[in-house]
Amino acid sequence: MRKILLPEHEIPTRWLNILPLLPEPLEPPLDPQTKEPMSPDKLSVIFPEPLIEQEVSDREWIDIPDEVLKIYSLWRPTPLHRALSLEEYLKTPAKIFYKNESVSPPGSHKPNTAVAQAYYNRISGVRRLTTETGAGQWGSALSFATQFFGIECRVYMVRVSYNQKPYRRVLMETWKGEVIPSPSPNTEAGKKFYEKDPDHPGSLGIAISEAIEEAATRDDTKYSLGSVLNHVLLHQTVIGLEAKKQMEMAGFYPDVVIGAVGGGSNFAGLSFPFLADKLRGEKPNLEVVAVEPTACPTLTEGEYRYDFGDTVGMTPLIKMYTLGHDFVPPPIHAGGLRYHGDAPIVCKLYDLGYISAAAYRQTEVFEAAVTFARTEGIVPAPESAHAVKRAIDEAIKCRETGEEKVILFNLSGHGYFDLNAYDRFLQGKLEDS
Ligand SMILES: *Cc1c(COP(=O)(O)O)cnc(C)c1O
Repeated sequence: MRKILLPEHEIPTRWLNILPLLPEPLEPPLDPQTKEPMSPDKLSVIFPEPLIEQEVSDREWIDIPDEVLKIYSLWRPTPLHRALSLEEYLKTPAKIFYKNESVSPPGSHKPNTAVAQAYYNRISGVRRLTTETGAGQWGSALSFATQFFGIECRVYMVRVSYNQKPYRRVLMETWKGEVIPSPSPNTEAGKKFYEKDPDHPGSLGIAISEAIEEAATRDDTKYSLGSVLNHVLLHQTVIGLEAKKQMEMAGFYPDVVIGAVGGGSNFAGLSFPFLADKLRGEKPNLEVVAVEPTACPTLTEGEYRYDFGDTVGMTPLIKMYTLGHDFVPPPIHAGGLRYHGDAPIVCKLYDLGYISAAAYRQTEVFEAAVTFARTEGIVPAPESAHAVKRAIDEAIKCRETGEEKVILFNLSGHGYFDLNAYDRFLQGKLEDS
């Protein structure tokens, strides 16, 4: 079988919450002023109640509301593919599967949480959301999601991307999102940078500060984050829950599960339902690999400590692997992987040795991406191509050892808005930083 498809009525009706399965609890977020553990309700200035509840919930299963399922069914369940052509090309005895999250209208896994967040904000009476976007994928997903619930969406977009990726902006505007290049003169956080240099290239950290400041200072507005937080990872588990059923239909259980990690949400979404088996002691040999760029090596080279989630220092302090909140990664094309920290749950699982991590250079990642496009057809997002690279390396190792490993990776998105980067690669102009 080349594609393993589920019928629409098999979209999971519950998300899997991994928090109660962790071998030890997460360290609490700290108040940036007092350095004391922060009570979750202090977050209510920027997040609605139901999402704060999910952030700290100890229930293993959380029902997906019907209204969310209705919108999920526009593109879910997503296909699971057996990468037969890639296997043939690599002459590997390994079996390679990938979950195709690129089929959503915005082109990535991100609407899985964007739709849920828009819904919970709407039922909490919120009429306006702010957020940030780097490469434009999260901004697209939230613009797409909010329009279904009559919520206005303002997106602070890192200025370099705003200038370099006009089509992502057009996509957001088509879905009624309002896009503002960051740093902007709209906020105190933005002004600090904007007034010194109106052409300041910006960063994800600055854009987060702007979006949070606006939400914190306007009664009608809340803030939405596309990765890192526990509730975001929770919503993404719909990916792995489907994949588990599909792998069963194919008659396999993966030996290795692989995902690219920016903040950790697509990686968590695919892997947590399988990791739950490992945490329960049922699959002790399951390998789970988080893949990141060498240009932003959060897990492989960061420190495990408390740090801010943004640049200016407005968020609570969270315990995570971090390169430092003022780290500015080189401008690699996998914009979605340029974050200084990672999700606290992913960091905890890494620290305890339940998952491993690997880092790859930009040029070798694009080489893998092109190999994938020339065998399986789909042009992967530069972010997803990190997972492709690892899957190919695993399969080549199997060719050498003769092992018939079952490899599963997340194709988190397509790269059709990233053709500029592909152009540079094909012309031999792409460099490693
Ligand atoms: C945003 C994005 C990522 C990285 O974010 P995570 O939260 O780590 O998943 C990876 N792939 C694609 C296609 C993205 O849009």
